[in-house]
Amino acid sequence: MAVNPFVSGFACRCPNCGRGKLFTGYLKVAERCEACGFDLRAADSGDGPAVFIILIVGFIACFGMLFTEIAYRPPVWVELLVWPLIGTVLCLALLPPAKGLMLAMQFQNRASEAGGADVAPVIPVVPGAGAGPTVNPLAPPQVDLPADTPPEHER
Ligand SMILES: [Zn+2]
Repeated sequence: MAVNPFVSGFACRCPNCGRGKLFTGYLKVAERCEACGFDLRAADSGDGPAVFIILIVGFIACFGMLFTEIAYRPPVWVELLVWPLIGTVLCLALLPPAKGLMLAMQFQNRASEAGGADVAPVIPVVPGAGAGPTVNPLAPPQVDLPADTPPEHER
């Protein structure tokens, strides 16, 4: 049975079996899953998790700062002490699950960042569905143009 990428990702577990640890350090991905031996060396989330966390935590911190300023009017030094601290703690706490989720999604979708091929979805062939030519429903429609139509780059 396939592992839910949200469950294994948020728990920082192997995207293949959902049991082995994904990280050997704070954010360092293990080379292999300790439980199933799944090869994790191709895992590369880039800066994707950091971007999401910056946007999410930035919204929370800015909204919180504006809300407390309008609702309670605390001294400025309190705002400058509390919200950067909350933002830093939230970023550090949310980065591992965000990276785990992104890696799990990459492995599940066979993304090239996880060693996959980024292939188009396979179109099932229905036996006996007709003797005509096979038509790819994802391809752009074919338009019959008159014979004297100039090439596309000259139109
Ligand atoms: Zn595993």
